[in-house]
Amino acid sequence: NRDRFLQSERLNVVSELAASVSHEIRNPLTVTGGFLQLLNKSKTLTPVEKGYIELSLQELNRAEQIVSDYLSFAKPQSENMVYSNLRAESEYTKNLILPYATIHQVEVKYNFNNSLNKSYDRNQIQQCLINLYKNAIEAMKEKGGGTLSIDIIEKKHNIVISIQDTGIGMTKEEISRLGKPYYSTKAEGTGLGMLMAYSAIHKVKGNIEVDSEKGKGTTFVITIPT
Ligand code: ADP
Ligand code: MG
Repeated sequence: NRDRFLQSERLNVVSELAASVSHEIRNPLTVTGGFLQLLNKSKTLTPVEKGYIELSLQELNRAEQIVSDYLSFAKPQSENMVYSNLRAESEYTKNLILPYATIHQVEVKYNFNNSLNKSYDRNQIQQCLINLYKNAIEAMKEKGGGTLSIDIIEKKHNIVISIQDTGIGMTKEEISRLGKPYYSTKAEGTGLGMLMAYSAIHKVKGNIEVDSEKGKGTTFVITIPT
């Protein structure tokens, strides 16, 4: 069917683009931010000039967020392909988000029990997991904390990743908008995280199911065939 074809073409372009631009963007952002901070310390700035600098820093910060939602693990592709069981990626990303979870009173439960192997792009899978973990923690942050349960198991010939939070949850309408570019309900959101996650799972021919109840929490279940 034609619609589906177009959709998958778009997802491929999107993730290839992500893989090729990340580092090229991060470096100039860091350098520019550093010089703006220095300028901002000058004693001779007028209030209007100071305002311009602060606006520029805010915008740079926004660009930095887009890179971190969308491109932070991206590197040239072929060398990132592995044939593995997701253990390294899931442990690495879980450890990466622990401090973020702790400052928002989120307890992280992690269970890994999978011996099935699969070919995948390590960076894209890491990026996908990070985005789902981040969203889960952000959904609980608004409720003053909660529990994030990550389970990676095998079921028949599938690797099944379940990411469950006790956060604010979503309505049916909100669920239907997940993955649309720039859809965000957050003041500082980019609306690119879920698009990236869907794109990465699409690439390994997996699928993502969402189960959510407003006020109670959300579970994402990713099924990856091996
Ligand atoms: P962002 O996080 O920048 O807003 P995403 O694409 O990562 O963008 O997510 C889009 C939107 O989906 C979020 O703004 C939020 O409204 C909703 N969402 C995603 N994950 C969850 C979750 N675990 N619980 C509640 N809402 C969620
Ligand atoms: Mg997000």
